[in-house]
Amino acid sequence: MADNGWVSAQENPAGWIHLYSGKVRDLYEPADVLTDVAGAGDAMLVVASDRVSAFDFVLSPGIPGKGEILTQLSLWWFDELDVPNHLVASHAEGGRGRAALPDDVAARSMLVKKLDMFPVEAVVRGYLTGSGWKEYQESRSVCGIPLPEGLNNGDRLPAPIYTPAWKAPMGEHDENISFERTVELVGEDDAAAIRDLALKIYADAAAIAETRGLILADTKFEFGRDPETGEITLADEVLTPDSSRYWDAEAWRTGTTPDKRMASFDKQIVRNWLSANWDMSGTPPELPADVVERTSARYRELLERMTA
Ligand code: ATP
Ligand code: MG
Repeated sequence: MADNGWVSAQENPAGWIHLYSGKVRDLYEPADVLTDVAGAGDAMLVVASDRVSAFDFVLSPGIPGKGEILTQLSLWWFDELDVPNHLVASHAEGGRGRAALPDDVAARSMLVKKLDMFPVEAVVRGYLTGSGWKEYQESRSVCGIPLPEGLNNGDRLPAPIYTPAWKAPMGEHDENISFERTVELVGEDDAAAIRDLALKIYADAAAIAETRGLILADTKFEFGRDPETGEITLADEVLTPDSSRYWDAEAWRTGTTPDKRMASFDKQIVRNWLSANWDMSGTPPELPADVVERTSARYRELLERMTA
């Protein structure tokens, strides 16, 4: 991970012990691990920062308000979706006792059950773009799934496809894998259950997004097993502009160029700027102020359009 100063600069919220920092989120456990958090077993505090990553590099500076937007959108979706999720029952009341949501980071925090995470990123694509488009041009397939001839960048796929990735350890890049490889990693039953859940959640969420004039082009879910109930549970962030591509439906219908069709509410602004201004060697350059501002505004607009 890039050492840009602010990754290690976060302070522990009172009453919480730092467990782990991912590229975007900081994870904590209660200082008093015996604290009863509504019978939820091991609780954890997940605090989303304003850090932004692209192509698995953490960039500088952060995107103002991003941690709060990702958290509020995830909470909204967890409520909307009809699947078991990792929020503990007491999250809505701000937690309990020493495992209460710390005031200073409450708006960008989730109180969750600590799950045994599957090392699989459950990616679903309903449209062809990004790495999928690149692969399609070379092989007429995406992650080994054959697709019809004649598709263009941004086209809707005949049906959504499940294209899992292996969740690489910190510092390594995630890797696209076949469904058969996920069977080797987590076993046949869980691999199939994760695939079926991911496809179902994508379909439900895409239908909801459509009512807001938005296309959910693709997204990534992470699942874990609840250590108490054994249930496969939706975890991490969900359907955020970090984990998904959202486009404006009207622009997609009427746009004449790929740029106009894919008027995105996500990290594409950052990805595009970085691809054009960096050769992926050494330390990534500082993001210019206008890229930061436009990304921040798009993230906020998505939250408002979805949750209004
Ligand atoms: P990495 O961990 O490889 O840096 P990342 O950049 O996606 O990946 P973040 O999103 O910043 O990581 O951090 C969140 C971490 O917390 C992820 O590793 C995710 O798998 C993990 N996680 C999310 N929800 C839970 C949960 N309920 N129980 C256990 N781990 C969780
Ligand atoms: Mg993540």
